[in-house]
Amino acid sequence: MKYILTIDQGTTASRSVLVDENGIVVAQEQREFKQHFPRQGWVEHDPNEIWETQHATIVEVLRKSGVSPQQLAGIGITNQRETTLAWHRESGEPIGAAIVWQDKRTASLCEELKAIGLESHVKSTTGLVIDAYFSGTKMQWMLQHYPQAAKLQSKGLLCFGTVDSWLIWKLSKGRLHVTDVTNASRTLLFDINALRWDDTLLAALGVHRNALPEVKPTIGYFGDAEIAGHSIPILGCAGDQQAALFGQQCFAPGMIKNTYGTGCFMLMHTGKEPHYSQHGLLTTLAWSDEDGPEYALEGSVFIAGAAVQWLRDGLKLIDRAPDSEYFAQRADFHEPVYVVPAFAGLGAPYWDMYARGAIFGLTRDSGKDELIRATLESMAYQTRDVLEAMATDANLPFRSLRVDGGASANNFLMQFQADLLQCEVVRPDNVESTALGAAYMAGLAAKMWTKQQLSELCTPNRVFQPRMDAKQAQKLYHGWQKAVKRSMHWLDDEPK
Ligand code: ADP
Repeated sequence: MKYILTIDQGTTASRSVLVDENGIVVAQEQREFKQHFPRQGWVEHDPNEIWETQHATIVEVLRKSGVSPQQLAGIGITNQRETTLAWHRESGEPIGAAIVWQDKRTASLCEELKAIGLESHVKSTTGLVIDAYFSGTKMQWMLQHYPQAAKLQSKGLLCFGTVDSWLIWKLSKGRLHVTDVTNASRTLLFDINALRWDDTLLAALGVHRNALPEVKPTIGYFGDAEIAGHSIPILGCAGDQQAALFGQQCFAPGMIKNTYGTGCFMLMHTGKEPHYSQHGLLTTLAWSDEDGPEYALEGSVFIAGAAVQWLRDGLKLIDRAPDSEYFAQRADFHEPVYVVPAFAGLGAPYWDMYARGAIFGLTRDSGKDELIRATLESMAYQTRDVLEAMATDANLPFRSLRVDGGASANNFLMQFQADLLQCEVVRPDNVESTALGAAYMAGLAAKMWTKQQLSELCTPNRVFQPRMDAKQAQKLYHGWQKAVKRSMHWLDDEPK
């Protein structure tokens, strides 16, 4: 039996997963690592700790499963996106901390880029908006603040990278400085049409081309990793959301996956050409292989499962998040209640940072059950908002939604989502789409399976079909739109 070793490097934990020839997860191992918050709005990881925890899980998953390195057909990598690292090209030592995607320290650098009129160039070249979230201004900040960084760069001795590049560097013992197109497409430096680093943006951010990794297709041979003295080919690498899109087998234009976690992350496959959004969604690479690139639209909901945490920790209405399903099912649904969880403003497609949370439609009969139900429903409403924007931007109808993430376990929510969208909602038995996606990619490159065979490998799904009639769904959605409108522009001044 041959196996794919999947390396899944997330924001809070490093994981290794072994997948066999039948696409089955046979072993997995996980290590959490420390989050550093040195100042308000700053989030850092220790690059050595990222590697050490990742390496420990590789050793452990092989030991526990009894699988030998010779049985590995290849390695697939997926990683937290945008988090940025720098290291010395000769010693391999990290230069300073990794700056994590959530880190806001470069907000003022972003304002400077906007002030010099780069917004439309950034959108048409990279598919992104100028935001501290992406890697480019994190590199600029490192060049300005980490001692030695600028000097090393001018001597050609600096390596910049996202987490995938760092892991591949370590796995190859410093021989490879590479990344894939999906990770590159989150840097604010990558031309998603020409598939190369963009000179205008490199100059604007002061980043030298020779400090950046070589960009490879997502699916294919990246080079060899050295594991316990054996050379194992690295055959796939993608950012976590793109890996999840692949793991959910959204291979055709119009196919969408939604991950219901703290927030929601939605990606729609849009085909071989990029589609640009009129609603503030991002255009991004879905993946690339020998047949060239494929693209996706990406949107997110800031507060999804986080609203359930609010029910649990803030309002203390429930003890555990899964209990929300029981209470929601008991609720009286004749007088709909709406919770707009705009706790920190509203994202796509409204983009109103002055909005704040609100509850509408209360009557004397509204109680705990109705509030819980309305909070769960808010995830489905927000998902519909983003999906409609995507469908319009891509000019593609959506026929089916594939779901994963912690809150996708909630059957009430999934049924309501199907009702509201009037389309089927498909939940795989194994919701580990991210790790599976990276394994599927590497297995394709290893010729372990074909794309057609992947669907046979897939674990069984539970499909939620719409049960509500279309008119009723539209009426409920109309109520939501009214509620959102009334919660907008709540603050008079810019939030602190
Ligand atoms: P993340 O990766 O963002 O940490 P997860 O995918 O682990 O998120 O999902 C956890 C989130 O989902 C939490 O915000 C939690 O409140 C919510 N959640 C988990 N299980 C359920 C459930 N059965 N019903 C509703 N919400 C849930």
